[in-house]
Amino acid sequence: MKVIDAHCDALNRMMLRPDIDFHSSEHLDVTLERLVASGSAMQLFAVYLSATLHSPGFREVLQCIDYFYTKVLAHPQMRHIRYAGELAQAEAEGKIGAMLTLEGVDGLMGDELYLRTVFQLGVRCIGLTWNYANWAADGVKEPRQGGLTLKGRQFVKQCEELGIILDVSHLTERGFWELAELSPRPFIASHSNALDIAPDPRNLSRAQIEAIRDRDGRIGLTFIPWLVDTTRPAVMTDLLRHIDYVASLGGGHILGFGSDFDGLSRKTEGLEHAGCFPALAELLARHYDDDFVRGLLYENWRTFFERSLPVSVI
Ligand SMILES: [Zn+2]
Repeated sequence: MKVIDAHCDALNRMMLRPDIDFHSSEHLDVTLERLVASGSAMQLFAVYLSATLHSPGFREVLQCIDYFYTKVLAHPQMRHIRYAGELAQAEAEGKIGAMLTLEGVDGLMGDELYLRTVFQLGVRCIGLTWNYANWAADGVKEPRQGGLTLKGRQFVKQCEELGIILDVSHLTERGFWELAELSPRPFIASHSNALDIAPDPRNLSRAQIEAIRDRDGRIGLTFIPWLVDTTRPAVMTDLLRHIDYVASLGGGHILGFGSDFDGLSRKTEGLEHAGCFPALAELLARHYDDDFVRGLLYENWRTFFERSLPVSVI
């Protein structure tokens, strides 16, 4: 069973503990060995500069990307995925794809040159915010619940020109609808669940899920326990309710997973690290047919990225 996981924070762990490497199963949920063991076809790695790093700037963005190159891509089993066709190529060679994403644009400081630089370094998905406000937009925990700033709107256009995929996880609902109006292209929620199943503002309302479905974007259901179940400690089977709900809205084909491994202080039971995907695949196989399971774990993300990644001009 092949797997694509649309979100992890392993690079942030490396920022906080520069001594750890990509094998450190004691300190990391996502390690090379676990990706191999779980049949990973591609892992997305977020550049997320947590609040513990005081006012992170562009230098910190570059430092995080440097760890992606020196700690992750340095392994010959890993392949950097930047352009359409590269994932298929990596799979044909038996390699695991690795894609760079950016969670919160704070460190780009509204500078288009910085955006172009991270694109050239391989960033292919960008979420405007983490939970709070920055120069581009408001995150879901910002009390005023604003949308996109003027600069944020310009930034969205610049991302589109480059072929960068926008990610709405963490964005306010107002920001979501402003982005949807501004941008005709499919976007993703890399790590969010269904609000009607788990009422947390980080999750997506029915209307949001339908909007993503209508433009053939993607949703990565996440293992963040308080987004899986808001009333009690979450277990793996609770994810089925989110899957069934989105499928009931005609959105089964837009679903994948975005674990948020290495970003969590608590875990969903049974989904503690990247080596748990085979157990999830077993659970899914007991409830859904083979094609649907393959879609959830791999194929829905694969088709999306194959279609959405820019075509190399080199
Ligand atoms: Zn996140």
